[in-house]
Amino acid sequence: MHEACCFTKEGEGKVRCRLCPHECVIPEGKVGACHVRVNRNGQLISLVYGQLAAIHSDPVEKKPLYHFYPGRQILSVGTHGCNLRCSFCQNYNLSQCDADAPSRDFPITPSQLAHQAMSIPGNIGIAYTYNEPTVFYEFMVDVAELIHSAGLKNVAITNGFINSGPLLNLLPLTDAFNVDLKSFSDSFYRQMTGGRLAPVMDTLKAIVNAGKHLEITYLVIPTLNDSEEEFREMIDWISLELGPDIPLHLSRYFPAWKLSLPPTPESTLDNFADIAAEKLRYIYTGNVSTDIHSCTYCHECKTLLIKRLHYHTELSGVTGDGRCSHCGATLAGYF
Ligand code: SF4
Repeated sequence: MHEACCFTKEGEGKVRCRLCPHECVIPEGKVGACHVRVNRNGQLISLVYGQLAAIHSDPVEKKPLYHFYPGRQILSVGTHGCNLRCSFCQNYNLSQCDADAPSRDFPITPSQLAHQAMSIPGNIGIAYTYNEPTVFYEFMVDVAELIHSAGLKNVAITNGFINSGPLLNLLPLTDAFNVDLKSFSDSFYRQMTGGRLAPVMDTLKAIVNAGKHLEITYLVIPTLNDSEEEFREMIDWISLELGPDIPLHLSRYFPAWKLSLPPTPESTLDNFADIAAEKLRYIYTGNVSTDIHSCTYCHECKTLLIKRLHYHTELSGVTGDGRCSHCGATLAGYF
C-alpha cells in the first residue's frame, strides 16, 4: 500500500481522485471505480503500488509496437485493476478484479524491478501493460524514473483514459505509447466501456504534441464498432490530427468476458486495412490466421523493410538510421 497522488479532500471524510476522468468521490473505506484506490482515513491509497500480477520478457511486437526497436525484447509488467469496464475485455482476469485481488500478487520495489530490467541482456526497458497502467500510476512513475536514469526506455500500453495533469507528468518519462482506441463513438464508450471518447482523443493529441512515439490499436467487434462510415471518420481524424505516420493495429475480436458475439470475420479486417491505407502509411492486422498485414513496407517505393512471421522479426530493408535501403525514404519510428 502506498499513498496515491492526484486527489483532493471533499469533506465528510471523502476524497476525490483526479487521476482519470471518472474523478471518483470515494467515501471512507471504499474504493474507486478501478477497485484499486481506496480511501483510508481521508487519504487516497494505491492498493497496487509494487504489487505485480504479471511480469514477463516479451518481444516488443507483442505490445503491439511495430515501429519501436522492432525485434527487441522488453520486460513487461502489470498489476490488477482497470478504470474501464469493457464487456469485451480480452484480459479481464487481470483488469476486472475484486478489491482484495492485489493481496494475491507478489511485491517488488521500484529499484528491484529496475535492476531486473537492467540485468536482462538486450532488454530495451519496461513496458507497463497487461492491465491499465493508469491505475498503478505512482508505481509506474517511480520505476520509469529509475529506468530513464539507467538509459533504458519506458513504454505504456494504455486505454488513454487519464486526466491531462497526470498525463503531462508522465509524458517526459515515457518514450512510446500504444493506445487502445476502442471506437469513434462516444455512445459506444459510455455503453460498452463506462468511459468517454473525448478524453482519449485528448490523450492521443497530447502524446503526439509531446513528440512521443505513438501507435494505435483498434479492436474490431462485429456489429458494435464495425461501421465502415464511422471507421472512415476515425481514420480521417487520425490522419489529420495525429498524422499519416501513426501505425494502426487492427485487432480481431474473440468472445471474452461478458461478450459472446462470434469472432470478427477476417474479411472485415482486410476491408478496414484497405480503407485505412487510403490515409495512413502503416496498417497491421492482429489475431488473424495470415501474415498478409504483418510486414512493413516503404511508403514511397513499397520495398519490404521489416519482415514479421509470428514474433520473428527481420529488418531486411532498413538502414541503421531508419531509412529505406532502396529509395532512402524515412521510416517512422525508432530502430
Ligand atoms: S483512477 Fe480509479 S479511483 Fe481514480 S478516478 Fe479513475 S477509476 Fe476513480
